[in-house]
Order: sequence, then C-alpha cells, then structure tokens
Amino acid sequence: MSGAPASTNAESNLLGLDYRAEAERLGPPVTPIIDVHTHVHGEVAPEIYDEVRRLFGVTRTYTMTTFESLPALRRVLGDSIRLIAMPRFTAPDRLHAMTRGFTEDLARWHAEGARMCKFWTAPRIIDIAASLGDPSLLRLDGAVRREQMDRAAELGMMFMAHIADPDTWFATRYKEASVYGTKASHYEALERMLEAYRVPWIVAHMGGWPENLSFLSGLLDRHANLHLDASATKWMVRELSKHPRADVLAFFERHSGRLLFGSDIVTLDDHVSSAKVSPMAAGEKARQASSRAEAFDLYASRYFALRTMWETTHDGPAPFADGDLKMVDPARFDDRSSARLRGVALPPGLLKRLYRESAERLVEAWWDRG
Ligand SMILES: [Zn+2]
Repeated sequence: MSGAPASTNAESNLLGLDYRAEAERLGPPVTPIIDVHTHVHGEVAPEIYDEVRRLFGVTRTYTMTTFESLPALRRVLGDSIRLIAMPRFTAPDRLHAMTRGFTEDLARWHAEGARMCKFWTAPRIIDIAASLGDPSLLRLDGAVRREQMDRAAELGMMFMAHIADPDTWFATRYKEASVYGTKASHYEALERMLEAYRVPWIVAHMGGWPENLSFLSGLLDRHANLHLDASATKWMVRELSKHPRADVLAFFERHSGRLLFGSDIVTLDDHVSSAKVSPMAAGEKARQASSRAEAFDLYASRYFALRTMWETTHDGPAPFADGDLKMVDPARFDDRSSARLRGVALPPGLLKRLYRESAERLVEAWWDRG
C-alpha cells in the first residue's frame, strides 16, 4: 500500500502524478471532509481507499455497499463509515431484489445503521425494468418505488436519488426520446415525489444537471427539502469547469447550505489485481484498475481533482481520461482524452460548508436523531 510505485499509464493518471506528493502539496483541507456519496466494496480495496482518504483529509464516508461487504468495511474503516440503503443489484432474482425484496431489506439496513435510502432511477433503469418485463416498473413515482419510499420514511430514513445522467448521454445513448424521454421529463416525477415525501432529499451528482445551474436554482427554490451532492468526479469536473467561475460562485453563494461534497468513488477488489472476482466483475467499473498501485491512483485521482477544482484556480487538463468526450465526438477524442479542469476556488466559508458544515447540519444531524 504505502510506498507502492505510482502507475503512470492508467487512465486515472494521465499526467503521471505522484498523488501522495500532490496530497501533501494541497495540505490539509480547510476542514475535515465528509464524503456523502461513495460505493465502498470489498475486503482489500477499502484498505487502499482508507489510505487515500486520509491523505486528502476525508474523515467520514457515507457509502452504498452490499451486506456481504459490511464486516470488512467495519474492520478497515470502523465507525467512520455510514451506510446508505440500496437494493441487491447483482442478486440472481433481480426482479424481486429491485422491488419487494428491497422493501423487505430496509429493516435490515436500518438495523445495520442506515438512515438514508437510495433510489436510483437513472434513465437506463428503463432498460433494466424492460428486461424485468415492464419499462415503467421502476419509475420514481411508480407503485414499486412508492412502497419502498413509504417503508423507508416509516423507518425514519432520509432519501437520496439519482435522477438523470449527463447531457452527453442524452445526446448519445439516450438519444431515443420515445424510449428515454427528454432530460427535463425525468424531473417531473422527482418534483411530485419531493412534494409527496417531505423528508430531506439529496439528489446526487448536482441534481443530475451540473450543465444547467439555472434549472437547479429553480428546483432548489421550489423545494425546501431538496439538497444536492456534488459527486461523480469526472462529470462534475467536465461540466462545472465550463461555467464562468462567477456563475458557479453565485450558485454556491445562493444555495451553499444545501450543497454537499461527494466523490462517487467506487472501490472493488477487482481493482487490486487482474483477477476479476466480485459480483460486479463483469462491469466496466471492475476494469478501471488491476493492481494496488492502479487502485490507489484511481481513488486518489478523484479526491485530487475535486479538491483542486473546489480550492484552487488551476486551469489545465484533468488527470484522468473522460470517455464521454469520445462518445460525443469520436473524430476529435480518443480513450485517453481528458476534459479541462478549471478551479472554482471557493472562498473558505463556502468551502467549509461544502466540505463539512452542510453535511453536519443535514446528514449527521439526521443520524443523531436515532
Ligand atoms: Zn453513486
């Protein structure tokens, strides 16, 4: 783990950085960071994640994981991790796991300490639902979700949701609007549910629309129980860097108590060797790293890029490849193309709120209710 040589060719380290040295150069953050959105899985990968988060000053990690990962997570990360309930995506009976099975699991998640429940309704949930027999089965405002929301609310959980994906995906893989709807249409169900369930909500990935800050402002103004996490590092770096800094600052000044730091880091034991072993081994995430050094760089690149974006005025290529560039414009970009990272340099007060205070007031306080 420590002292492992930095890998310089992996897609998560295009610039050949020594992320340990970069962490030192950044120094401790203005306040210890709470990461409200991760997916920490595995036995070995959490050890690497733990080194990374210490280096970059993250002291609390909220994570979506599996029941199977809990003993290792508790051994490695102790009570610094907190759990967000999620369905068993890789269960053999997926229909049950995504519907009644998840409702039934919520009591167990609650007993394990989870006080937040994730409702993942990215547009490709339509494909998953179609494979289970009904494309509308898992709509955010459908009967299945409402049963799950009723149960989660009854157990005293707050909600997290994933509503939409990048504009780049709507321009490509979701181009078929008759199947996937427009991006805006996905927010209609969200707004209905924000009204129906008055618990606090965190809508992940800057609400799913970092490309459109004025839309997000309207959404936040209309719903007092709505909060956003700024997780999904590549997406945030690519899109937030495109806005004039003044616009991002104005957005943060207006809504800062409702914006939370997140990374969306996914750790898997598949990342530490070329053997792909986990239930998620077949997925694209499993191929992102194949040694301890690559896993280190994968996780470190996220915290490095996020801290660089939030804290500095750096302007240059992001340290990792961004496949969305090639997806949209294959003539101009390839697998190693990276987006521009332009720092927002939030003033210390706003930075403290983003890194910690907003999460303390909202999420940590919610857990403290018992
Ligand atoms: Zn996530």
